[in-house]
Amino acid sequence: MIKAETFSGQTVAVFGLGRTGVSAALSLVAGGATVLAWDDNRASRDAAQKQGVPIVNLKKADWSEIDEFVLSPGVPHILPKPHWSAKAATAAGVPIICDIEILAREVAARPERAKPKIIAITGTNGKSTTTSLIGHILKACGKDAQIGGNIGRGVLDLDNMHKGTFYVIELSSYQLERTHSLRANAAVFLNLSADHLDRHGTLENYGLAKQSIFANQTKHDTVVVGVDDNYGKALCTKLKVKNGRNIIPISARRAAGHGVSVLGGKLFSNLSKKSLQVCNMAEAKALEGRHNWQNAAAAFAAVSSLGLDPHEIGDAILSFPGLAHRMETIGTLRNVRFVNDSKATNADAARQALASYRNIFWIAGGVPKEGGIDPLKDLFGNVRAAYLIGEAADDFAASLVRSNTPCQNKRTLEMALLCATKDALESGVKDPIVLLSPACASFDQFKNFEIRGDAFRAQARKLMGIEDMDAARPAKEEDAA
Ligand code: ADP
Repeated sequence: MIKAETFSGQTVAVFGLGRTGVSAALSLVAGGATVLAWDDNRASRDAAQKQGVPIVNLKKADWSEIDEFVLSPGVPHILPKPHWSAKAATAAGVPIICDIEILAREVAARPERAKPKIIAITGTNGKSTTTSLIGHILKACGKDAQIGGNIGRGVLDLDNMHKGTFYVIELSSYQLERTHSLRANAAVFLNLSADHLDRHGTLENYGLAKQSIFANQTKHDTVVVGVDDNYGKALCTKLKVKNGRNIIPISARRAAGHGVSVLGGKLFSNLSKKSLQVCNMAEAKALEGRHNWQNAAAAFAAVSSLGLDPHEIGDAILSFPGLAHRMETIGTLRNVRFVNDSKATNADAARQALASYRNIFWIAGGVPKEGGIDPLKDLFGNVRAAYLIGEAADDFAASLVRSNTPCQNKRTLEMALLCATKDALESGVKDPIVLLSPACASFDQFKNFEIRGDAFRAQARKLMGIEDMDAARPAKEEDAA
């Protein structure tokens, strides 16, 4: 645990006692702050209290006595509607922060000889994959890398820092808008597309929240920007004009000047005078698809800016085991491959899997997002048949029928998987893929996307005749981008 010593003697309110709220409260107590912690949910309060968190009803608190307010990133302070605690804090002029801000202040307070390196990652899609990949590369190169933030451990739960520590931190826009002092030695901005507008109001605000990942960087630090979308392209130009940081554009589509790109499936670095082929992405089994090329290029750029050997980085990219629920290959039954892409909770994310395979027996559905699957119709040619589940089934069927793509409403994941497997086995097509890529949230039938993906994996393994085992992989606290 990291003690929040910079808050010693202060009175700090904490609202939201999930994974990060509890670790923030305990870190503040250990650092010498007076903590008043609360949650609207009684069970969360009781669980936190058992771990030693001081519980105080913030509805009855005197906010003029409070110095700072740590508000869980998932709880809104402006849009769509400010939470009562945020209203109270704002009325009393109490700054609203999150656990990442606490870490940032602790790191800033350390003397240079004891400062860790911080690598921060944001973007609408690909954050977790890139964060895990960077952590994997650093570990493979013998470094003390610790992954946290919006994935895995809360940042204040990470092991205490020393000079050789690399904190690899995934950051959502929700966290970034409550973080003001973070200085990232390398900061990655992958991409931006419309998401979470209920919370940010406009795409512009959402983008600005994400851009704050670069705040406080100095000329010794590195900016990594994905330039495959117009937003990233403009951002890169703006940052280049603004100051003398080391700016590395990355692309999975074209040569990125003095940057890192994947061309024809090969990862190239143009960071030194001579172009260098780092690795062949076709050999990176857990990083299929062009979107993952972007993630790999970003990871390479960030890690090489910290002085690691490009060939060692290339080897580590190839040995990355991948993340559960993101185009995760479960195994094969005869020639049929099972792929779990349960994390694809919207059409944009499902697009990546549909673009990566041919001969897909596609399981989709759940709670639909605005726009449904119509935006994916250019990829329906890769779908042999669709097996629909949950609330979205009828709407999705209408979209598929309009494009003459065979589909059936199977209602449950279990039925859909059975039918898709049978059809795939009997299809006689080359390399059929039974793909769960729902383009929907899960909560009509499952608690979250992880439980949905676990159910798919367990049943697929049964069909393959393999006993199921728990896959111990990092989990996200919330679906925040
Ligand atoms: P995040 O943490 O940002 O949600 P993940 O790494 O968990 O991202 O990937 C979630 C889904 O987003 C993947 O299943 C894939 O469909 C899609 N995705 C991953 N990386 C990218 C990328 N670089 N660009 C676009 N989509 C991506």
